[in-house]
Amino acid sequence: MSKYTNSNYVVAVAHCILNQATRWFWEGDSGAWTEGFVSDFLERLKLMGVGLYQLPCPEFGLLGNPRRPMTRDDYELLPGFIEHCRTLAENVLRDLKAFKELSTEPKIEVLAIIGIEGSPSCGVEFTSRRIAETNVRAVGMGIFMELLEGLIVSEGLNIAFYGLDGRGLTESILNISHSLEKSVKRLI
Ligand code: SF4
Repeated sequence: MSKYTNSNYVVAVAHCILNQATRWFWEGDSGAWTEGFVSDFLERLKLMGVGLYQLPCPEFGLLGNPRRPMTRDDYELLPGFIEHCRTLAENVLRDLKAFKELSTEPKIEVLAIIGIEGSPSCGVEFTSRRIAETNVRAVGMGIFMELLEGLIVSEGLNIAFYGLDGRGLTESILNISHSLEKSVKRLI
């Protein structure tokens, strides 16, 4: 029998999956999808028995709230934001490497990093861009996820990236959960 259990696997999740309070809030309007945290997704992760690591919220960490909803292009022009994201990504990389390096019997594996589709910072397949003075959802990663992925790849770590999508949340939760379940079954 394997000495591994699901508890030896960690999933790193975007900050707002566990804490919607950091999502943008502007003139009484909120970017939150739900109250508190994304409970449906966390229920699925709970069934898998994996541990969670909460990524930092890059936007709240620099601007706090209230902050207006902005695109990736707006954040690229915001003084200090890219450097702020790079520092956060380096800190995350250090933590994720420590799970592996400081665990021996059994080893801890980081299964995946879960971002937020459409986010200028945390998008995985989709971010937001400003095209012809209009904010649009566009193919591409958010600034923080892109920097984090670059560091993960340069370290030779094999960690999958998935994006939770507020447009079609139920389907997105199912798809990511199935992928994670397959990874856990393959690794145990
Ligand atoms: S998507 Fe990223 S930047 Fe936006 S609120 Fe969530 S954690 Fe913060």
